[in-house]
Amino acid sequence: MDDPKVRAIDRKARFALPPQRASLRSPEERRRDFAPVVLPFTPEQARAEAGRCLHCTPAPCQQACPLHNAIPLALGFVEDGDVVRAAQVYGETNPFPDICGRICPASFCEEACVLAKVGKPIDTRALEAFVADEARRRKAWPPLATAPRTKARIAVVGSGPAGLAVADYAARHGCAVTVFERYPFPGGLLRYGIPGFKLEPDVVAAVIADLEALGVTFRCGVNVGRDVSWETLRTSYDALFLGTGAPAHTLPGIPGEDLPGVYGPTEFLVRSMVAPAWLPEAWRGPWQVGPRVHVLGGGDTAMDCLRTALRLPVVQEVTCYYRRSEAEMPAHQADYRHALEEGARFEWLTAPVRFEAGADGRVARAVYQRMALGEPDASGRRRPEPVPDSEFSVDVDTIVLALGYTTEREVLTTLPGLELSRKGLVVVDEDGHTSVPGVFAAGDVVHGADLAAPAIAAALRAARAMVKEVLQTRAGV
Ligand code: SF4
Repeated sequence: MDDPKVRAIDRKARFALPPQRASLRSPEERRRDFAPVVLPFTPEQARAEAGRCLHCTPAPCQQACPLHNAIPLALGFVEDGDVVRAAQVYGETNPFPDICGRICPASFCEEACVLAKVGKPIDTRALEAFVADEARRRKAWPPLATAPRTKARIAVVGSGPAGLAVADYAARHGCAVTVFERYPFPGGLLRYGIPGFKLEPDVVAAVIADLEALGVTFRCGVNVGRDVSWETLRTSYDALFLGTGAPAHTLPGIPGEDLPGVYGPTEFLVRSMVAPAWLPEAWRGPWQVGPRVHVLGGGDTAMDCLRTALRLPVVQEVTCYYRRSEAEMPAHQADYRHALEEGARFEWLTAPVRFEAGADGRVARAVYQRMALGEPDASGRRRPEPVPDSEFSVDVDTIVLALGYTTEREVLTTLPGLELSRKGLVVVDEDGHTSVPGVFAAGDVVHGADLAAPAIAAALRAARAMVKEVLQTRAGV
């Protein structure tokens, strides 16, 4: 589709237009609940913001988007007030613009926007969410046609962003899709790993409902490899997609890391905000968080844990301990800023040494040491090195280890013949074929913990190859 705006706009005049910005709820107000922090664009704001777009050709925003959404084309339709056509444009490349519009960082499209160099970039993410929400409100979402049903059967293991993207693509192309999810409800990371103040559970529920309306079957509470064998899946389906992500959290490897009161990020997040009935059985027991919470790590998950802790009524003091300095912290700026606004404290250049229990056996003290930055390491960031004799201890009630995620090697090795890298990642070719015939994989299980949009993009590449091969085999080609 050509962009009708390409020749029709006055770029100079557009430079002078004031940027529209989505409103944020005040820190005092948002600390009281898990409702969204960012308020959606009004239709007037959306049209005004879309009207600032310069319709660049080629468009850097589109090139930087992992899904290559045709952003200027969609924004042209928003400016015209034609949200339904804008939704069609997003739908061509992204099955979940309502999700990506909320949880993508600015580091893709907005940092690439030419207007970022001279002022405020177009708020492409708020516009994407606006379009998807508005199209859904008008019952114009999902916007794509669906192919007639074939006899092809696809199994998807894992219902995070990658698994859902494959389910959507395969179902639209006529396959019968069954998604296996070990948690009680589908959504994976989207439902169990991202707090409601960034992604409302209702948005995830609407996506699941769309997929069910497409004919996708969800089998929740099923551990593949234990409750149902890989062999059963391989013989019952034409192809299998592995989208199990990287759900295991990294441990610091220090004494006391397994004490009661020390939590992994996923358990902490979901037990803080999800009703017990929605949790895996192991997490439905008594849940105890004290007034002083420490969060270890400096990434987006650490920011999510800090901000979640700040919303718990019992919590009085929330501190982030990070072994590098503020400048090296990998969290996205907006998440960091929101955490600061909401009251999180930060201790830079500090690494844990051990955690100690109190008389009741629960964690009561954390011993840290100061760090100094040395030479750059493999990541290009300066390596933190311990400062001699710098240990100190701090009383604490709850510790959250938000140090990173990895795949579950012990689960993946139950699939015979599946090649894994030294880091426990599934080895695939560029179309997502694994070493096991008929088994495809993409997303965090292949690349390690990353953002949703790259996982969706890789999953769609694998889905195209998988569905094509399955349909050709069924047709005897
Ligand atoms: Fe519009 Fe910015 Fe993309 Fe250019 S880079 S097309 S101004 S959103």
